[in-house]
Amino acid sequence: MQGHEALCPRLYLSLITRMVVKIRAGQIHHSQVVHKTQPLIVPPPKTSHMIKVAINGYGTIGKRVADAVAAQPDMKVIGVSKTKPSHEAFIAKSRGYPLYIADISKKAAFEKANLPVTGSVEDMLKAADIVVDATPGGVGEKNKPIYEKLGIKAIWQGGEEHEVAGFSFNSDCNYKDAIGKQFARVVSCNTTGLCRIINAMDKAYGVEKVRAVMVRRGGDPADIKRGPIDAIVLNPVNIPSHHGPDVQSVLPHINIVTLAMIVPVTMMHMHAVQMDLKRDASREKVIGIIEKHPRMGLVRKATDITSTSELKEYAMDMGRSRSDLWENGIFEESISCIGKEMYLFQAIHQEADVVVENIDCIRAMMGTEKDPAKSVAITNKALNFVAI
Ligand code: NAD
Repeated sequence: MQGHEALCPRLYLSLITRMVVKIRAGQIHHSQVVHKTQPLIVPPPKTSHMIKVAINGYGTIGKRVADAVAAQPDMKVIGVSKTKPSHEAFIAKSRGYPLYIADISKKAAFEKANLPVTGSVEDMLKAADIVVDATPGGVGEKNKPIYEKLGIKAIWQGGEEHEVAGFSFNSDCNYKDAIGKQFARVVSCNTTGLCRIINAMDKAYGVEKVRAVMVRRGGDPADIKRGPIDAIVLNPVNIPSHHGPDVQSVLPHINIVTLAMIVPVTMMHMHAVQMDLKRDASREKVIGIIEKHPRMGLVRKATDITSTSELKEYAMDMGRSRSDLWENGIFEESISCIGKEMYLFQAIHQEADVVVENIDCIRAMMGTEKDPAKSVAITNKALNFVAI
């Protein structure tokens, strides 16, 4: 076990107790306790050349990107933006992130709530080298003119169309193409998870075609207005869903068809993935590829985890910040190879997997690290992120 000294004693004790109980119950043999305990994020020593990052839209993704930026040795948070006073604005204040607001006429409302305002979003952009736009899907596009006017580099999220940035990013697949770019879009959580496994299999065997079914969460845990409450909603009813073309915005040569539905859960998505490979595959080799990958992890049989909720609980017990799973959670037992066909289930934590990709995208666009593997290693290390 690694890094346990950074955990608070109570959390560490509860982790150990949990493992001992499982070992005693015969659910885990002690030799099978393969996952490393994850310490909570500790602020890094900073270098002298810090990339100044603005976060426009401090919500589900924005607040995670802000914390991930603050943890990096070569970046700092220059400011975050909110539209109205909220619990997240208080967290920004407690983290020491300067608070900027989209509509400066609301300054009095923030100050009445004891939330000091540093300035407008335009002021924040002027102080930054690059902005991560994490406003709701469709809003980001409306911010493009101001980014163009100020000549600032900008990263949008998967809720925007590919055309907004003209370039869609995934650390594994096209890091080098992002070097020096002014605009990029980090693809959605589902597309990120698909790109990682497809690209890895493509490199190892060549991919003939991919068929994937996405069982998507209805809303994030704090989304009180989202549904469904009691339905399986085909979203969309037509086939293919937009996820396949979105994968092709990063991996244009991949033949892929996706189907998607929404179910009444909040924690994670689940993908059922089938690929036809160009050569015969072996289960052992596929497992080996996933084990070596810095952002894919195996949900081992020994953990007795068969659901997204247990996997999220596991991430929480590991001491991950916000119980985030930045990696694809691929169920070891599901990996099956029949000749050239490969099958697996993977769980994707929608709030988390794109966060680390944003960090690499910043480094690539700023041109400060040309080697994708090095950037991924820096990002993961700063978050004490070791894939399960
Ligand atoms: P969110 O609603 O949780 O957060 C958006 C934040 O932006 C809120 O704090 C809101 O107050 C703020 N905001 C709204 N309008 C603004 C404006 N004009 N200027 C500044 N701030 C503004 O949304 P989210 O889930 O974090 O999604 C952000 C983007 O990330 C979307 O493109 C989404 O599709 C994408 N994304 C979301 C998820 C997810 O699971 N939540 C996963 C991957 C990608």
